[in-house]
Amino acid sequence: MTDQSASASNSSPAAAKGATASSLIKLDGVTKVYYTDELETHALDGIQLDILEGEYVAIAGPSGGGKTTLLSILGLLDSPTQGVYMLGGQPVESLSRSQRADVRNQRIGFIFQAFNLIGDLTVYENVELPLTYRGTPAAERRSRVNAALERVGMSHRTNHYPAQLSGGQQQRVAVARAVGGDPLILLADEPTGNLDSANGEAIMELLGELHSNGATICMVTHDPRFARHADRSVHLFDGRIVEEERGERADADKQGLRESGFVS
Ligand code: ADP
Ligand code: MG
Repeated sequence: MTDQSASASNSSPAAAKGATASSLIKLDGVTKVYYTDELETHALDGIQLDILEGEYVAIAGPSGGGKTTLLSILGLLDSPTQGVYMLGGQPVESLSRSQRADVRNQRIGFIFQAFNLIGDLTVYENVELPLTYRGTPAAERRSRVNAALERVGMSHRTNHYPAQLSGGQQQRVAVARAVGGDPLILLADEPTGNLDSANGEAIMELLGELHSNGATICMVTHDPRFARHADRSVHLFDGRIVEEERGERADADKQGLRESGFVS
C-alpha cells in the first residue's frame, strides 16, 4: 500500500520518462473494431479520455455500448485498432510483451464481468494467483489473501471451488483477487452486478478505501447509486462518449455502508 504513490512516478515501465504529474491514463482517438466473418463491429469509436492519477471514474451506458471493450484496453488485455493509449505518459504500444505483462501483474487489478475464476483452483488459490505471479513472498501472500477474503466476507469458503459457489459469492472472490495486491489501477466491470444491496454497498466501501489510499479506479456500473461514489461518470453509447458528469462522491450513505457488513 505504502509504495503506491512512489511507484506511479518511477518504478513502472509504463511510468518511465515523460510522465506528466497528473494524467495517468490518456486515450486519444481510440477505436476498436472487431472483425468476424463478414461482420465489422465498431465497439469503440474515437474515444478521448483522460483519467488523472487517483481519480475514480464510473462508466455507464447500455449493453453493447463498448464498456467491457474499453476496460480491456485500459487493462492491456486488448489493443486499440486505432488511436493512442498513453499510460503514465508512455504510449502502451511501445511496451514489449513482457513489459505489458509486468504492468498488468504489478499495477493493475481487474474485476471481470464474468468473474473469470479458475475452476481447478480453490477460492484461496484463485486469490493467491496474481500475488504469486507478482513474486510476493509466501508469508505476505498468506496475509494478503486472508485479509482480502475477510474483507469480502468469504473467509469461510477458502477451500471451495468456484463451481461450489453462488454467482454473488464468485463475484466477491473475484473482487478479493483484484484488490489483494493493492493495485495502483483497479478496473472493475460491473463488480456489484450479482450482489444484493448490502453486499454491493460493502464492495463499494472496499473500492472507496482503495481509492482513499491512492488507487485510480475505473468502474463500469449501471447503478446510479454506485456511480455516485465516483468523482466522475462517463456514459458510453455505441462506442462513443456521449456524456460526462461530475459525481457527488456520496458521503451521505457512508454510515449505512459501515453498518451493512456482508451476508453469505
Ligand atoms: P458492453 O460491455 O458495453 O456491453 P462490449 O464492449 O462488450 O459492450 O461490446 C461492444 C460491442 O462489441 C458489442 O456490439 C459486442 O457485440 C461487440 N463485441 C465485443 N467483443 C467482441 C468480440 N470479441 N468479437 C466481436 N464482437 C465483439
Ligand atoms: Mg460489458
